Amino acid sequence: MKDFNFKIPQNIEFGAGSLKKLPKILKADESEHVLLVSDRGLESIGVVKKVQDIIEAGNITCTLFLDVIPNPTVDTVNQAAALYRECGAESIVALGGGSSIDVAKAVGVLANYGGKITDYEGLHKVPGPIVPVTAIPTTAGTGSEVTASAVITDESRNYKLSVISYEILPKYAVLDPELIMTAPASIAASCGVDALIHAIEAYISDFATPFTDAMAEKAMELIGGNIRRFVANRTNIEAASAMMLGSNFAGIAFAWAKLGNVHAMSHPVSAYFHVAHGVANAVLLPAVMEYNGLADDGRYEKIYHYISRKKESAADFEPQMLIDEIRELNADLGIPASLSEIGVTEDKIEAMAEDAMKSANVLANPRQTNIRDMIALYKKAM
Ligand SMILES: [Zn+2]
Repeated sequence: MKDFNFKIPQNIEFGAGSLKKLPKILKADESEHVLLVSDRGLESIGVVKKVQDIIEAGNITCTLFLDVIPNPTVDTVNQAAALYRECGAESIVALGGGSSIDVAKAVGVLANYGGKITDYEGLHKVPGPIVPVTAIPTTAGTGSEVTASAVITDESRNYKLSVISYEILPKYAVLDPELIMTAPASIAASCGVDALIHAIEAYISDFATPFTDAMAEKAMELIGGNIRRFVANRTNIEAASAMMLGSNFAGIAFAWAKLGNVHAMSHPVSAYFHVAHGVANAVLLPAVMEYNGLADDGRYEKIYHYISRKKESAADFEPQMLIDEIRELNADLGIPASLSEIGVTEDKIEAMAEDAMKSANVLANPRQTNIRDMIALYKKAM
């Protein structure tokens, strides 16, 4: 067994209605003024107002920054950081999917250390603790409330930069499953599969440890057993709770075990063809799992049992059974079966493969991958 280190430094509050604990959480940090970072979509359906009211009812001043966009940019971070300084807030509340939480982490860095977010790009460049961030995810999900990375788009380079440092982990995560019950079925499906893929890639990663395995296995059990009924009916509180917690566990698993080729390959697909992150991952998953089958050490069978609805024991298990099961799950959830169906064209494969090879996730993938393998994987997924 390899040596490893593991910690979960967050305070995690879970439960339907747990939003109501926000004033108590914020007061624990002596915050009397917070910057609430969110987006216009959540404003339009009244979720921002709901959270703002809860915060203000605790006699805490709440300044709003609602201009977070999907794939938030360096500019988004600069605007939010400027507002943070101007308004005199003492901590940050992030409400939304990965984009709002990532922006909050980046603002937390700039608020304490100044400069530009590009100064902190890469591994462990954040010099110390950031402003306290309370993350409230509204999707299940990115797991960003428990991960040590923030992904910000640098438009000047047409590149998605990552700030990766354990200093940027949010201090608090508030998981209220009622928040994901209004998601449209398509969002529930793509975010849910993304969370499942976080667990799967962390589970078969070269950096997996017994701790990350435990988190990944529980995540696969929760998500595998509930994703279909959650997509079918988002108001099913049992299913919503399982998805929210599963997404959180998957986030903890991959924060430490990293991901693999699916995520390495999906970022270029999203960058070139503006495909939603979860959809790109789900479409790539069968081809990558087929490729990684050669490295399987018995974990494929365990993953199979977490996501399969066939209850008979698979005595003669073969990796291909898992691939078929994943294709069936994608089909059930309305996920397209190939990259060409989501608008990807052959002419960009080489450029995407080159970008994918730059991802640190390639190093965690269980089967070693070179540029030729990467090109073949994209072609296979077409
Ligand atoms: Zn993901």
